[in-house]
Formats: sequence, structure tokens, C-alpha cells
Amino acid sequence: MALIVHKYGGTSMGSTERIRNVAKRVSKWVRAGHQLVVVPSAMSGETNRLLGLAKELMPEALSTEARRELDMIASTGEQVSVGLLALALQAEGTPAVSYTGWQVPVRTDSAYTKARIAAIDDARIRGDLAAGRVVIVTGFQGIDELGHVTTLGRGGSDTSAVAVAAAMKADECLIYTDVDGVYTTDPRIVPEARRLATISFEEMLEMASLGSKVLQIRSVEFAGKYRVPLRVLSSFTPWDIPLDEEARSGTLITFEEDEKMEQAVVSGIAFSRDEAKITLVGVPDRPGVAFQILGPVAEANIDVDVIIQNVSHDGRTDFSFTVPRGDYARVAEVLKTQVLPGMEGTQMTGDPKICKVSIVGIGMKSHAGVAARMFRSLSEERINIQMISTSEIKTSVVIDEKYMELAVRTLHRAFELESAPAA
Ligand code: ASP
Ligand code: MG
Repeated sequence: MALIVHKYGGTSMGSTERIRNVAKRVSKWVRAGHQLVVVPSAMSGETNRLLGLAKELMPEALSTEARRELDMIASTGEQVSVGLLALALQAEGTPAVSYTGWQVPVRTDSAYTKARIAAIDDARIRGDLAAGRVVIVTGFQGIDELGHVTTLGRGGSDTSAVAVAAAMKADECLIYTDVDGVYTTDPRIVPEARRLATISFEEMLEMASLGSKVLQIRSVEFAGKYRVPLRVLSSFTPWDIPLDEEARSGTLITFEEDEKMEQAVVSGIAFSRDEAKITLVGVPDRPGVAFQILGPVAEANIDVDVIIQNVSHDGRTDFSFTVPRGDYARVAEVLKTQVLPGMEGTQMTGDPKICKVSIVGIGMKSHAGVAARMFRSLSEERINIQMISTSEIKTSVVIDEKYMELAVRTLHRAFELESAPAA
């Protein structure tokens, strides 16, 4: 008997018919003798619908008070899901009970719309499992110290599932989704993209943080920190395929580099469309200035990604950085009200239509010239690179949004990702 966490995405929960399928699949695991905790997302489109309603009443919810209400609204999608799934399981004859984040409780900080999980009390869940029930826990939501409902950021149900798996020391966390694993890149852009049977945790972390939407980044961080065995697999296989076949499908996120069977220099191409660039022109070049600019941005809980500061001329320099596009208006507001008043002669410009394209691979650690090959391929397509950032296992470029698909296809070909590497 194993303790298994299943996570089902919005598409898998998209209709009562599909929910019934999830219930049949979960029941199959229960019949095989396993204890199951299930974490579903809201039905597909539901979170967008809810946030759309909010937007009609307040186009830009910037204040903490307003963001609290966004969480109050958005969290309801998952509450409906868990109740429906519990009913579907009971209808199958499988005992089941559902809980919201605050009932568990899943404790988070108070950063509304992107809260972080601090702790999960698993006593209640364990009690139900011991009594032979499947426990269904809402994804995406928690409760802060003062009892306010919080949400974990878009795609946050992945993180809920992994956090539950970590808290309960589950044997495996299976993320059932509408793709059948992790691909070398998004097959909608490159039809020749291949599914990877395994990917290392480090690579997955980069892929997720660089825009691959298969898993929410925090879920990968969590899995790495607590060494949660994680698998991404399809929820569209027939529910009654043999369990051991299902348990081996998809992509396994591995921890042992040596275990990696596919030794390519570059494992995947990631991209992120939703980026924006801010440039401060004529910043005084003196100690503390980066902190002066980015301190208030961090204070506002806005993630800064690529940062560039140039050589100064006459004591002044240009300072550029990228932020998620959704935070563009907020970051401009923060700079205008809190930073620019203290920096005479500095001007702000911005470009919300940029994107980031990255090559990722642990093989890059031991191979020279990988970045150069990337730059050459892009130059052959006359794609201008605006910013570059690197780590041991990735190189990212910031480019004009209109070249994104071309860049992804070009790089996928340049690194021969369409053909499986020799074993
Ligand atoms: N329902 C939330 C969203 O759409 C969380 C999730 O699906 O993971 O972002
Ligand atoms: Mg998702």
C-alpha cells in the first residue's frame, strides 16, 4: 500500500463527464490498495471567468484590500471542484470527503494572489485516510494568519498538490494534465517536439521558471526541496488502462543526474511571452542605486527577472530589468511614486511587448560554445537580442515578442531536439 497524491488540472475537471472519469480513475487506485489524496483545479475556464467578473468592477486591482477580494472570488472555483469530485466518488461507491484550504488548514503568508505556503496540518487528512476515505483538497488556496483566504498564483494547484505530498511524505505525486508529459518545447509551436521520459529536477526548475507552463514553478521548487517524487502524465488515457502501465507513463522528474538516460547538451527550449521591460535612463551611478530602484519593487512583491546595468557616462547609466507583463502597470506606478522623485534627471521608458526564449540542459555544464551556437542561429534569422542572462544550465535571451515563435523553432532545429539523442 502506498500513499499517493493525484492532481487534476482544469481540463481534466472540465465537465461532469470528465469528473466522473477522474472518479473512476481514482477508484481504480483505491481498489489496488492505495491511500489517495486528490487535489483538483477549478473547472477549466472558471478561474478566468471569476477574475473576469472582478475586472468588470475594478479593471486594475492594485491595493492590498482589492487583492484580498480577488482571492475571495478566485478561490471559489476550486471549492466547487472538490465537492463535485467527492460526490462523483461517492456515486462510484468510493468513500470520499472534500476540504477547502482553510479547513485543512493550508497556512500561507498574506501575499494575496501569490501567497506562499508556510505549513500544512495533515492531522485531519490522515484521520480520513485511516478511516478509508479518499481525501480531496482544494488546489490553489490557503488561509493566512488572520484567517483571510489566499490564493497561490495562477496554476497554483500544482504547488498545493506537491506541498500536500511533501507534508504527508507521500510515495509519489502524480500530476494528471492535458499533455502527456514534458516536451522538448511546446508542440503547438514546434510539432516535432518530443516527450521526455525523464527530466532532471534542475532542468525542470529552469523550464518552469522560463515559461514552460506544464508545472507551476513553485511546485517544482517544493518538490526539489522536499524531494517529492513527481510525475507528469495524461489524464486523457482511458481510465481503465492497467495501473502499472499508467504509473510508468508520462515524464518522471528525476533527482539523480546519472540516471538521466537522454544525454543531450540541450534538453529543451522554454519561452515566456508574458514579459515586460522597464528602462531607467540616466540613473546616477553610485553605490546603493540598484537597491534604491529594486527595493520598492521587491517590497511590492513583484518578481524581477533579467537585470542589466550599463557602463556609465558622466556619472550616469541606464538600468533595465524585466518583470511579468501583468505587473507592468504596478511596477511603473511604484517607480513613479517611490523611486523617480528621489532621482532627479532620471527618465523611465518601457516595453511591454518583449518575450524571453531560453535553452536549457544540464549538458551545458560540460560543453563549451553552446551559447555561441544559440546566438549564431538567432543572428542567421536576423533576430535582435536585447538582453542576455545565463546560469550553469541555461541561456536566455530577451527579444521582441513578434520573433518568439521563429526563435523557438530555430533553436529547436539548431540543437536537433526533434531527433532522440543516442542512448
Ligand atoms: N484554478 C487556478 C488557475 O486557473 C489554479 C490552477 O488551475 O492550478 O490558475
Ligand atoms: Mg495547470
